[in-house]
This record gives sequence, C-alpha cells and structure tokens, in this order.
Amino acid sequence: MSALQLGKFSLGVGDRFAHQAKAQLQACIQAQQAGVEVIPVWNKSNREHNIIGSEPSSTRAAADAAVKALHWSKPYFLDADHINLTTVDRFLAPCDFYTIDVADYIGKPAQQASIDKFLKRRSDLKGTIRLEGVSQPIEITPDLLQATAAKFLFAIEEAGKVYRKIEQAKGKGNFIPEVSMDETDSAQTPAELLIILAAIADEGIPIQTIAPKFTGRFNKGVDYVGDVAQFRREIALDVAAITWAVRQFGLPQNLKLSVHSGSDKFSIYSAIYDTTRQQGVHLKTAGTTWLEEIIGLAEAGGAGLALAKEIYAQAYEHREELCGPYATVIDINPAKLPSPATVNGWTSDQYTSALRHNPVSPAYNPSFRQLLHVGFKIAAKMGPRYLDLLEANESVIARNVTENLYDRHIAPVFLGKPSPAAALQHAEAR
Ligand SMILES: [Zn+2]
Repeated sequence: MSALQLGKFSLGVGDRFAHQAKAQLQACIQAQQAGVEVIPVWNKSNREHNIIGSEPSSTRAAADAAVKALHWSKPYFLDADHINLTTVDRFLAPCDFYTIDVADYIGKPAQQASIDKFLKRRSDLKGTIRLEGVSQPIEITPDLLQATAAKFLFAIEEAGKVYRKIEQAKGKGNFIPEVSMDETDSAQTPAELLIILAAIADEGIPIQTIAPKFTGRFNKGVDYVGDVAQFRREIALDVAAITWAVRQFGLPQNLKLSVHSGSDKFSIYSAIYDTTRQQGVHLKTAGTTWLEEIIGLAEAGGAGLALAKEIYAQAYEHREELCGPYATVIDINPAKLPSPATVNGWTSDQYTSALRHNPVSPAYNPSFRQLLHVGFKIAAKMGPRYLDLLEANESVIARNVTENLYDRHIAPVFLGKPSPAAALQHAEAR
C-alpha cells in the first residue's frame, strides 16, 4: 500500500460551525474547471474546538458528507491544526493530516549529548551551500550550526514524539505530517531552515509540508502588513532551501511550503504564485469562511441581518475577552469600531460593505472585520439560533463562501489571477 500523498496545490479551509463544507468544496470544483487541481484540507485547531465546544469528528462528518454530495473523487484531508503531545488525542481517529506545532519548544535546550550527536552527524552542513536559482550562497559557520541546533533541536525532538504517537495510532503512511513553526517571534533564516530540515529528517518525520515563520504581520482575516518585496525574497529562499533539503536529506519528494496565512493575505498572493509553480504550496486559510457566514446573514436581511447586528453588539461588549487569546495576531483600532447603536441602524449593504474584505471599497473597515473574526464564540453560544439561520439562508451564504474562496484566494494563489490587493495598488496609482 502506498503512503498518502498531499497533491502539489492544496488549500486549508476552516469551517467553524461545520455548515459550509459543500460551499468550500465547490470552490475546489471551480478550480478544477479552471484547470488546476486544488486539494481541500479542512482544518480546525484545538483552540477553535474548545471555544465552539465541538469535536473533530464533526468536521470529519461534514467533510465526508460534502465530498459525497458533490461527487469529489480527488483526495481530501482533515487537518489536526496546531496540535502537540497533550492535545493530539481526540484528533487521532478523525484526522489524516497533522500540523505538529513546536513553536512553544523553540529555544528550549536539548540534551548536550543529542546536540553533540547532531553536530557530528551533520558536520558536512558546514561551509558554503549554493541553492538553485539563488545568487547569494548560504554560509553555515560552525557557530551557526551549533547555535541553530541549540535553538531548535529540542523542538524537533518534541515533534518526533508527537509524530511517533500519531504513527502508532494510525500506521505509517496513513497520514500527512506537517511541522509548523509559524507562531513564534522571528522568521527563520534559510540557513536555519536547512538545519531544521536536517534535524527533521534525522528524527524520521516524513513531513510533506513545513510552515516556517515569515517576517511581517499575519493578522487574522486582514491583509499582510509588512514589506512585500522582502516577503518575496524570503519565500523564494525557503522554496530553494526545501528543494535542496529534499535531495540532500531524503525527505519526501513532494515536501512543500505551508503558508499559515491567517486568511486574506492578498498583497503577497502574487509572490506565492510566482515562487511555488514547481514545488507547489499549501495555503492555509481559516476564519474567512465564518465571516462569509455573517456576510451572508447580513445580506439576507430580516432575521439574518438582525442576528448579524446582535453578534456585533455582543462582540463589541465582550471585545477584551474575545481578543485576549488572539492578541498577537490582531490589530484593532478601538476608535474605528462603530458603536452597536450605529450598526443597529445599518442596512444590509452598509453591514456587508464594512465587513467584506474589499480593499478598494472606502466602506471596508478592518477593525470591524477583525473583531467579528475573533467573535465566533458569540455565535457558538447562540447555538441553534445561529445554526437555524445558517440553514434558512444556506444559498446566499454558500454563494458568498464559494465566491470568496475562489475569487479572492484560489484564483490569485493557484491560477495567478490578480488579487484584490492588486486592484488596490492599481487604484492608488491612478
Ligand atoms: Zn499556524
């Protein structure tokens, strides 16, 4: 039996309330019709399950039902997103993709003996490395090798423990392993990435995706904040480093970058498209679908719009509590948040144009959007009141979910179509 393999292009989608899997899959079907195979990966983190009070098995049921209903015959996966040794258990049965998060262990020292062993085994990494298509050679000095091993080796050993636990439960080759290091303070350099990949190979983790950290801010649900040219250089170097590491360390041939986008990083989509034609890429988006549910409800008017307003009012009231767990990945300007009384007077159009991520629209309000992005707990608490309205307004919501994923994400990242950010730059240039 051959091992499960993740295809060249894949899209991580989040479906917090397990109601949009069909609409999300529809976006992959549209991609197929446009000539690119995009494999859907449904991801939901432990934190999201805890906030909503759901179990990973519900994500599995929703994904399976969507695949069946739409006759999707290509692979699809369920990602246990950002798990570690303590949180992996309930994801063992329903998932077949594991994002092993080692960020918390970076910087913790490994045993001196294992550092010494690594330095000896990988002494050939020292010196000059020339990556394909990169003019500047990578220099790995003995000090750099030592310092990088000291910083990352313990984290990789932890990843190995998690990997082996999953392997024991599911069997080798029956799941896709990813190692993620994106939720940390500083971006890894290409030299660090090479050394990390060597350690991952030594640990025997057959990763198919790796999620490094890039410079710039990847706030939830809004565009990238940072130097786009620098991002382009970084991603090109990471891709070259991965290509080199696959050859050198015997890692899986289909190993590719995983970009944990936090949704909607329109400004960097053309850089991602340009640099991942050969190797492929996994683009993880998540919260964008939940916001499309609110947009659909608001667009529907009546009880849908009323509930969308109520969700905002409650999110506004509980904003500190809601923002707490996400403090490092949101930048809300409180002065830009409309009062609930103001929002209560809004029409469908006013609500959706403030929320919809259309960078060229003067009505678009990133603070409003980010608060609602982290506000899904409010809807979770409403329970059937929320879910019943999702069902009653399924068609308008589904249209928004599919269009958003296809037009704003799949088309620019996998087909090279201009992203909404390009439209903004164009408008500013005029
Ligand atoms: Zn992440």
